[in-house]
Amino acid sequence: MQRLLIANRGEIACRIICTARAMGIYTIAVYSEADAQALHVELADEAHLIGPAEATKSYLDIRKIVDLAKSTSADAVHPGYGFLSENPEFAEELEQLDIRLVGPSAQVIRAMGLKDRAKEILGAAGVPVVPGDLGADQGADALKASVDQIGYPVLIKARAGGGGKGMRLVEAASDFDAALSSAKSEAAASFGDDHVIIEKFIQNPRHIEVQIFGDDHGNVVHLFERDCSMQRRHQKVIEEAPAPGMTDDMRAAITEAAVKAAKEIGYSGAGTVEFIADGSRGLRADGFWFMEMNTRLQVEHPVTEAVTGLDLVEWQLRVARGETLPLAQDEISLQGHAVEARIYAEDPSNNFLPTPGDVSALMFGDARIDTGVREGDTVSPPYDPMISKLIVQGKDREEAIEWATKAIQQSLIGGTQTNLDFIHALLQDEDFRSGKLDTGLIDRKIDALTHAGQASPRDWALGALAMLGLNAESDHFGFTHFGPSRGMIWISQEASSKKVEIQQVKPRSYRISVEGDEIEFAEFSFRENQIFYRFDGVVYSHPFKTVCDQTYINIEGQTHCFKQKTRLKEVQVNSSVSGQVIAPMIGVVKSVACKIGDEVADGTPLVTMEAMKMEMALTATRTGKIKAVLVSEGASVSKGDILVEMEPTDG
Ligand code: ADP
Repeated sequence: MQRLLIANRGEIACRIICTARAMGIYTIAVYSEADAQALHVELADEAHLIGPAEATKSYLDIRKIVDLAKSTSADAVHPGYGFLSENPEFAEELEQLDIRLVGPSAQVIRAMGLKDRAKEILGAAGVPVVPGDLGADQGADALKASVDQIGYPVLIKARAGGGGKGMRLVEAASDFDAALSSAKSEAAASFGDDHVIIEKFIQNPRHIEVQIFGDDHGNVVHLFERDCSMQRRHQKVIEEAPAPGMTDDMRAAITEAAVKAAKEIGYSGAGTVEFIADGSRGLRADGFWFMEMNTRLQVEHPVTEAVTGLDLVEWQLRVARGETLPLAQDEISLQGHAVEARIYAEDPSNNFLPTPGDVSALMFGDARIDTGVREGDTVSPPYDPMISKLIVQGKDREEAIEWATKAIQQSLIGGTQTNLDFIHALLQDEDFRSGKLDTGLIDRKIDALTHAGQASPRDWALGALAMLGLNAESDHFGFTHFGPSRGMIWISQEASSKKVEIQQVKPRSYRISVEGDEIEFAEFSFRENQIFYRFDGVVYSHPFKTVCDQTYINIEGQTHCFKQKTRLKEVQVNSSVSGQVIAPMIGVVKSVACKIGDEVADGTPLVTMEAMKMEMALTATRTGKIKAVLVSEGASVSKGDILVEMEPTDG
């Protein structure tokens, strides 16, 4: 294999390109008009425009991609996941041209593509399958009669289904007819096939899948299991390896069943055998059943890479090259624990609606990040709104979850709403932490998981400091010449706004008042896009970024976006020391609000300056009488210039 065409986009295209490049394989990317500037286009050795943004006219257009593979003399095509990765016609077209699909044969893809057929083949081979009806008779009465045999609750599933579409849970006979017709119409609309199957609904279900690998020489191995029970609407959110609470017996049984399934169908390449396990009484060797097989690389493959130390894309490419599997079963071992979180541009507080848009801030904590998005990129509406996958590894599950939590706390995504805070909340969930998982966990706790807490006075204070940190010049907000420096800023977050008063009590220490609440930070500093400080004896750091007038800051897993409410920043100069009002930085005098002889009180605005796109009101901080006004409107002043002189009136 010399030339590999990658028929995909986003993080998976980037992921494949990286390994292919390391193996010395030339990479050819494809892209739609929406992706002309995308990272995968930049990374590949060459890239070709294949059509407009709509996937059916670009990434899903078999004709265009096959023709391009031919014209670019690609000798292999990696389909990634999604798009054409499980499309038997695509595989057939490539087979006819003698271009290797990185994956199994068209025949295997077809055999496993429909849930009824896959269950029939594997059930016959002795793999335990979920009890149910394959729906040979699609009549409503016949299906209902077999549900009476199986017993409620049941799941109606589209045989051609994927992504949870065309799937309905039915708990009582009275709901069956309506659920059947809605499942069928969704299946017809999504897959052009309204054939449904019925499955017994497994209680406390856990989604446990086994990564398998086969080669063209009849070898099959497994790379242990992954647990993907953290799901929302049947879509995986957090995946991990190994499965929490896995027993030796169950692992032996489930991996054996997966290998048996792969051998039965003559599997070659990377595949995943998905099982549903009954979690109601702990994992048991006789408590899991085959659901379906995915004949491709999975989104969650990195957790398996983390615990086995193997590069699954490398294995795929080697198998596609006709090599035997790099390792035998007894050479593959499992070490530690890995967790992956899928980070999406979506709004958890608005029913997880996708929030495509510009990603103006993008930073990640210490983790493996698989992404196709760079800071400044746009999450484009026609595609999956995934921004990245965050993968961490620890010596055990507790440590992996702890690392994942820290990595999320040190990540920052701004510009568009994401599920980052939701993932953080999920990682903190007690049941998740203690391994009491099932696929219903997220739904049961959705309110708590999506409820963003109110910003605390401390959050407001940090938002204000982060905002000032980038706007002001080196000596913070510029007023350290005369006694303690004090500043005030109005900032807002969503509908609320607050006045935040900042007083520097000593170098790097601030006393901040947020409408009556007092907070003190010590050893405060900025380094790149992080703030560091000590609060109540504990040292903290948070990532932040200011983009235009918005400051994004992630404070312990909660992302805040503060705005400067008005451009007026009021600064008070301690005139009791020098009796002088001084220009804090270079700028222009916008207005002068006092004249010689005026009696002014503490807080009276004296001069307004414009500097660094901010308006600043310079005020008196004590009662006094204006002795001299040394500037007028429109004057350009330098830092340190004396603007107004006062004399005390109260002795
Ligand atoms: P799709 O192909 O649409 O993704 P799957 O058959 O893979 O559908 O099922 C998706 C998810 O639905 C599973 O991960 C699991 O959470 C749930 N599920 C599927 N079958 C059952 C079942 N028989 N009992 C309980 N939950 C199930």
